[in-house]
Amino acid sequence: MKTIGLIGGMSWESSLVYYELINKKVQEVLGGFHSCKNIMISVNFAEVEKLQHEGNWEALNTLMADAAKNLELAGADLVVLCTNTMHLCSEAILKNISIPFLHIAEATGQEINKKKLSKVALLGTKFTMEKEFYKELLTNNFGIEVLIPTKKERQLVHNIIYNELVQGKINNSSKEVYKNIIHNLEKRGSQGVILGCTEIPLLIKEKDVTIPIFNTTKIHAEKAVEWALKE
Ligand code: GLU
Repeated sequence: MKTIGLIGGMSWESSLVYYELINKKVQEVLGGFHSCKNIMISVNFAEVEKLQHEGNWEALNTLMADAAKNLELAGADLVVLCTNTMHLCSEAILKNISIPFLHIAEATGQEINKKKLSKVALLGTKFTMEKEFYKELLTNNFGIEVLIPTKKERQLVHNIIYNELVQGKINNSSKEVYKNIIHNLEKRGSQGVILGCTEIPLLIKEKDVTIPIFNTTKIHAEKAVEWALKE
């Protein structure tokens, strides 16, 4: 088994889920006392959130690239960045390491292609929904058309992530807001919805919506284990 390197803390609420998922998956595949070999570097999300909202992506590039390098130096064989948003720093990370980097949108694109869907909605932070890095990868590498919520809806989705989900607050009223937004996206032609923020699956489950969901946390964590167990 190879060692998975995780960059966590963004937020720790979802890093916890990654840790659980990778161990459960290894246990499921190998049985017995097996668990997942991994190393996590967990950052202080207060620093990250501040830099994000100041638009200081240069500092964030350095922070993420350093974390990835430290995982490599500590003996990780693969880097997994446990957040969608921070994949904005992918290029800086790739430049700084010589071990593979498992991109979350790449892993998600593969799953969408498996289901043969061509038009899907993307929910996440405003950075993920509005900047091009995530949508472009899905369109260019997988031929997927990506729909995003309206401006007003995007603000709601973003606020619920930062004011509630990353702080471990799960509110029924916010669940209803998300369900309505997903329903609107379905009416606009979305055949599925990407839960493109690693905390959204804490709020929205398959049973809450009528179109397929793509849980990026689960997809990413399970792909990492597949890779770690590959010969
Ligand atoms: N975990 C979230 C994501 O997947 C948001 C927190 C962050 O900004 O990294 O995008």
